[in-house]
Amino acid sequence: MNLFPLFAKLDGRRVLVVGGGAVAERKVKSLLACGASPRVGALEATDALHALHRQGRIELLLAAFSPGWLEDAWLVVAATDDRDLNRHIADLANRRRLFINVVDDPELSSFHVPSIVDRSPITIAISSAGTAPVLARRVRERIESLFDASLGSLATLAARYRPAIRQRRSDLRRRREFYDWLLDGPVAAALRRHQPGEAAVHLEEELARPAPAPLGRVVLAGAGPGDPGLLTLKALRALNEADVILYDRLVSEEVLALARRDAHLVSVGKAPGEDHEATQARIHSLMLAHVRQGNLVVRLKGGDAFVFGRGGEELEFLHANGVPYEVIPGITAALACAAYAGVPLTHRDHAQSVRLVTAHCRRDTVPDDWASLAKDKQTLAFYMGVGELDSLSEQLMCHGRSGDTPFALIENGTRKDQRVLAGPLKQLSKLAREHGIKAPALLLIGEVAGLAPKLYWFGASVITNSTTAPSCATTTP
Ligand code: SAH
Repeated sequence: MNLFPLFAKLDGRRVLVVGGGAVAERKVKSLLACGASPRVGALEATDALHALHRQGRIELLLAAFSPGWLEDAWLVVAATDDRDLNRHIADLANRRRLFINVVDDPELSSFHVPSIVDRSPITIAISSAGTAPVLARRVRERIESLFDASLGSLATLAARYRPAIRQRRSDLRRRREFYDWLLDGPVAAALRRHQPGEAAVHLEEELARPAPAPLGRVVLAGAGPGDPGLLTLKALRALNEADVILYDRLVSEEVLALARRDAHLVSVGKAPGEDHEATQARIHSLMLAHVRQGNLVVRLKGGDAFVFGRGGEELEFLHANGVPYEVIPGITAALACAAYAGVPLTHRDHAQSVRLVTAHCRRDTVPDDWASLAKDKQTLAFYMGVGELDSLSEQLMCHGRSGDTPFALIENGTRKDQRVLAGPLKQLSKLAREHGIKAPALLLIGEVAGLAPKLYWFGASVITNSTTAPSCATTTP
């Protein structure tokens, strides 16, 4: 069920609450807290409801439900323990296009009441659409502990100075920086110490300082292999602050979802077969154009920007153009895929070194390189190798690597559709073909890859066997 979240303004508006028990009383109190005018209808009501009625804060109708009660209401809450009556009220409300919440009955309700974390004027609402109330409660507890009570006073203070902040920091970027300072700096600290006067002094002093001139810069950040949990804290922060995000094809949707809502997201991925040099030139000029407008540009790349990511070239370009930059490393595919496939890249018994190799440069490598790549007791991590598996395994074997050397081929590493294929080097291309392995996939070759079937822990089990019938040797006469 997809619910549209909204916060309703009920000030002075009539809300019908049917039911007079403890649940109805709770609803009435939260409605009153928002300034609504509840009309309560029930055969009998709690003492507290009677008291509210005496104080003139609610209308109280002690009678059996009557459709006339819906008159001039904006919203309806049915809190009786009679399901048939609740259904009847829901039918009537729906016919009049009135939104109704039937307490603890998501099916009959046309609006849900979320659980909330109240840091007025900041309100955080949590809903599981009625499907997992316990989980929603846990989420609420976590959020409660994240934001201490001073958040409310901070928001109130910010609201009070909003016109002044707008005036003194007319540029959007400078304004955002000011608000960041407000949240992280001495103002928030003073409010946590319950010293509102001091907080206001800090705020005014800072506001009186002239805003620094807008200065664009680039953050070259690694987004990791896909699982958003593998982003670094610094990368997450950059995504939250970015004005513009130029991202590659390998950056996952889940990672992009963490970006600031109003950041300008631009896909600059290179599709296979496309003119890579032209795309690269376009990326360079885009970075420059956005930076010159004073933007914080996050150049986001899959894995790590400096591992087969052309990050070096982009940095050289920025350096040549005098653009300030920063680099945030990401978890590269070799590290991530190895971890998520249960393959330790080095191992005291099996591998004393690791090599990160691109399968694409294969044709340029001289035979000597193959000889050194074919040595045992080392782990090879091949990037971009799916199209090259035949020649790759042949070259290694003809340069002396045993055909029984284990491999692990990891497709969509760390993502929910991760697949790991493992077997001996001599069967690599045959198995990969049979199982239709596609890019992005990372190939690990070396004794350590043999540990994958035993040590894997993530997603579907490791595929180790051939899907075809036993080889023809058994059927030939
Ligand atoms: N800069 C990236 C690598 C870019 S080259 C990094 O540090 O990871 C692209 C190659 O990376 C792909 O062809 C594939 O071999 C590998 N790769 C990237 N993400 C991957 C993933 N989630 N699963 C498997 N391989 C991946």
